This record gives sequence, C-alpha cells and structure tokens, in this order.
Amino acid sequence: MNLIFLGPPGAGKGTQAKRLEALHGITQISTGDMLRAEVQAGSAIGLQAKAVMDAGHLVSDEILVAMLGSRIRQPDCARGFILDGFPRTLVQAEELDHLLHGLGMQLDAVLSLEVDEAELTERIAGRFSCAKCGAGYHDSFKPPKVAGVCDVCGSHEFIRRADDKRETVAARLEAYRRQTEPLLPYYEAQHLVRRIDGMLDIATVSAAIDAALGTPVDRKITQS
Ligand code: ADP
Ligand code: ADP
Ligand code: ZN
Repeated sequence: MNLIFLGPPGAGKGTQAKRLEALHGITQISTGDMLRAEVQAGSAIGLQAKAVMDAGHLVSDEILVAMLGSRIRQPDCARGFILDGFPRTLVQAEELDHLLHGLGMQLDAVLSLEVDEAELTERIAGRFSCAKCGAGYHDSFKPPKVAGVCDVCGSHEFIRRADDKRETVAARLEAYRRQTEPLLPYYEAQHLVRRIDGMLDIATVSAAIDAALGTPVDRKITQS
C-alpha cells in the first residue's frame, strides 16, 4: 500500500503515519525528519535548508525531489510507503508521478487530514518528541504515560522543534495554503483523495483512517 498524508503543519500526519507504519509494515518517509537530520549533521543540504526551515518557508523542489527520489528507491519502500510531508508543491507532485511511473509503482490513496487553524496552533505549541527514538508527544493531548519518560524507549531526553514557535507557525500555515493546498484538486482528479476529519482525538482519527482504507477490524492495533 502506497499512501500520502496531506495536511497543514500540526494536523497529525506524523502521528498517524507512524501508526500505519506499525500496523501495515510499510515505511514512513518524513521529509521534515530527513531535512532535520541533514541540519543536525551539518551537511551541504542541511546548511542550505536550515534558514529556510527556520523562516517557515519551503525548501527548494530540486532538493526535495532528489532526496525523495533516492529514498524511495531503497528496498524497504518496496513493501509500501507512507509519504509524510511530501509532496508539498505541484512540481513535487508531478515529479513524484514520474518517479513512481518509472519504478512501476502507484499511489493507493491520499489521506487529507482536515484541522482548523486555532487547533493547529495549539497542537504545534505543545508538540515535543523523544530525542532518542522520535516518538511524538503533546503537553496536553498526548503526554508520556510516566512524566519525563518516553513510552516507547524509556529515554528521559525530549526535544522541541526550532520552527514550532508561534512566530514561524503563521508563515508555515501560509505556505501550506498557498503552495500545498492546490494538491487537493490535483489528486482529486486522480480519484485518490480520502478526506479525514482530523479535529477528533487521536484514536478516533486513527479509526476514521482505517475505515477509509478498508482495514479489517481484527488487524487494528490498540493505542492510547
Ligand atoms: P509539519 O509536520 O509541521 O508539517 P515537517 O516536519 O513536515 O512539518 O516540515 C518541516 C519543514 O521542513 C517545512 O516547514 C519545510 O521548511 C521543510 N520541508 C519538509 N518537507 C518539505 C517538502 N516536501 N518541500 C519543501 N520543504 C519541506
Ligand atoms: P504533523 O506531522 O501533521 O505536523 P503531528 O503528528 O506532529 O503533526 O501532531 C502535532 C501535535 O499534535 C503532536 O504534539 C501530536 O502529539 C498532537 N496530535 C496529533 N494528532 C492529534 C489529535 N487528533 N488530537 C490532539 N492532538 C494531536
Ligand atoms: Zn523514545
């Protein structure tokens, strides 16, 4: 199964993509995580991307298409993939279509997570993640079961993203509206879009995604 998550920053793409990765044994590809790893490593791409990301703008299509192209050719993507944060522009969507066509792959669905702006702002303001394993949390909506300890790996170290501050969020929402939202009609023309009400709690959104994908109930995993 090859899926795309479409949705504004903070909508819950990463949260739901990680769950589908575990449920279906398919590979989550987060271009945001890949770019943050490049920044962390101080690579040439990272040095170029950092200022753009900190300003809440999109990194160039050229960098993203090259990055995604080499990632999707890796063997773990052959069993299926979930794109989280890519494509974000029409150019990226068209390049993805060419790339998949050339590899004999195709998309099964585009899950569009719909969340209003006040809620997005709150989700982003409270977001943090485990520094060791990347598990995602929220101060109010998804705190670790034991305060200060990662549910997944037991680490005590957590991080907050540099671009998750209020000043940057407005620019990221604007970039989404202007550059990414036009992908909805693009994929609607291919009859791939499944609209998901992302305003509900995490487990309810997961159930709506399973229903949209036709996942049998006995395969569902439980989550808190
Ligand atoms: P969020 O989960 O909040 O939507 P991401 O982690 O997906 O954010 O992305 C963080 C930042 O990385 C974006 O604001 C942008 O600068 C850059 N980025 C990630 N994916 C892309 C992409 N496909 N095209 C351009 N820039 C990207
Ligand atoms: P995205 O990848 O779309 O930027 P995330 O999956 O990182 O979004 O979610 C943003 C924040 O909101 C995280 O702190 C996450 O724990 C929390 N979150 C995700 N889904 C929900 C939901 N349905 N209700 C409340 N909080 C949520
Ligand atoms: Zn962890």
